[in-house]
Amino acid sequence: MPDILDHATDLEMRQRQSALDKALKHSEPEQDIRDGMVVCIDCATPIQPARLKAKPNAARCIHCQQIEEQRHGR
Ligand SMILES: [Zn+2]
Repeated sequence: MPDILDHATDLEMRQRQSALDKALKHSEPEQDIRDGMVVCIDCATPIQPARLKAKPNAARCIHCQQIEEQRHGR
């Protein structure tokens, strides 16, 4: 019985860790919403509706997102 419990706990921990890793990798900064509009957290420009449609959790405008991605060497 203890073996099964250990295994279950181990499995649960691994699943939690992988979910956490995934969340961190794909995490977006929190959006800055002003007057019902999502504005870029870097330049405070309202984010294009088309961009929000493609990426509802976008926190940066396309321009700042590109800068951010270049900064991370991608
Ligand atoms: Zn911006």
